[in-house]
Amino acid sequence: MQETFDLIVLGGGSGGLAAAIRAAKHGAHVALLEPKKLGGTCVNVGCIPKKAMWYAAQMAEAQQIAVDYGFHEKPGSLDWPRFIAYREKYIENIRAAYARTLDQSKITVVRETGRFVSPTRILAGERELTASHIVIATGSTPNRLDTPGFDIGTVSDGFFALRSCPRRTAIVGGGYIAVELAGVLRALGSDVDMYVRDRLMGGFDEEMAYLLGDEMRQHGIRVHYGCQITAAHEKDGAILLDCDKGNQPGPYEALIWAIGRHPNTRTLDIEVIDLAVDRHGHVLVDAWQETNVPGVYAVGDVTPNKALTPVAVAAGRKLADRLFGGMPDARLDYDNIPSVVFSHPPLATVGLSEQEARDKYGADVHVYKQSFVPMQLALAGRLMKSVYKLVCTGEDSRIVGIQMLGPASDELLQGFAVALKMGARKSDFDATVAIHPTSAEEMVLMGARVPG
Ligand code: NDP
Repeated sequence: MQETFDLIVLGGGSGGLAAAIRAAKHGAHVALLEPKKLGGTCVNVGCIPKKAMWYAAQMAEAQQIAVDYGFHEKPGSLDWPRFIAYREKYIENIRAAYARTLDQSKITVVRETGRFVSPTRILAGERELTASHIVIATGSTPNRLDTPGFDIGTVSDGFFALRSCPRRTAIVGGGYIAVELAGVLRALGSDVDMYVRDRLMGGFDEEMAYLLGDEMRQHGIRVHYGCQITAAHEKDGAILLDCDKGNQPGPYEALIWAIGRHPNTRTLDIEVIDLAVDRHGHVLVDAWQETNVPGVYAVGDVTPNKALTPVAVAAGRKLADRLFGGMPDARLDYDNIPSVVFSHPPLATVGLSEQEARDKYGADVHVYKQSFVPMQLALAGRLMKSVYKLVCTGEDSRIVGIQMLGPASDELLQGFAVALKMGARKSDFDATVAIHPTSAEEMVLMGARVPG
């Protein structure tokens, strides 16, 4: 028997849930297919458990700073099983909240993988569902390599299964996940080596990425640039690696591959509807989230757009507003999306990097920079510097990029992202009275342009 809906959403992660719930709010009859846990990567094996571990790591660091301030207590180590029980309880509550909202929204939740039978028909186990609008929101999965011994290690999903802190960890990769996990593990007591084939945080402002690498080294993380791992071996219960430089680093207790992610399209039978994908398998979409097949849309990590939860959520909601909410112009503006790497310290960015600005505006680019030791660290005798950078163009110094590295940058960026999106000039920052004494005030107290 065929079940008919206004909208079928494939995937119950951030983007899929957002599209389904918003469409139901507009009165649409919606089915949502999710064979695994509700919440997708972000809730189950991504942003949320990562941020929980990051908070624990911050606590560990705060204890060290407290000792440097003169507190008598010795820093304690984390009781992983106890903290992970709290972490999982928190996540369970999020999933329960989603389940309640789906129920209240009268969305039909199908615990099956969906396959295309036609552009309007989906096979889900024994059930056949039909709708004139179908949204693909199936997310992404960590990449794997053919490298010999790959399975001796794990991917980020395996990090979340750890129940104790590995004494020595090797991390392969230099992107978001590698940098974030390296910082967390180091702060919680692991001895961490990172193997980075080129540079950290490709696509980010190069200067800031190297400064981050320097800071990570000061935290005790060994960052090995220009190093490709060609094999992993097990010997006497420990992990050894082969490096293309000829050395054999190790032994390690844990090996984490953090080498990017690929879109989840393999089980969808997209060939049946001739859906266009790029060479990585991302579903190609236009500015309206439309694919090449009328009535079929895609949002989130399955598309080539920025793989960030708030992007997927915003795209899903806008799409539902357009299809069912009587808002024909609703679409996500993909320009100037802020992003934070929860490294130690955090790295925050919105708009263009200095290189991107020079590519776009040529010589008409200038930079303001502020570098300082935050008071909280200076009091503890630490010399780790925060660096803030404004990338500007034009005679009136319109701000086209903001880069921030240092404690609290993760929380500071959001407000400055609003200013950039509104077209702020350097003079607007100068005209704003500082809040003293804070790190944030350095954003409005920047002096002369950096020469060059
Ligand atoms: P990224 O794309 O951020 O980084 C992948 C890293 O792996 C790069 O350093 C890349 O090097 C390296 N790499 C790729 N292939 C190989 C290889 N064969 N050998 C060695 N190194 C390799 O991917 P992640 O997996 O870290 O994260 C996936 C996405 O998830 C991110 O891009 C981001 O969008 C999202 N995310 C967001 C977070 C946040 O908002 N805080 C946190 C975590 C993830 P190279 O640069 O040379 O290609």
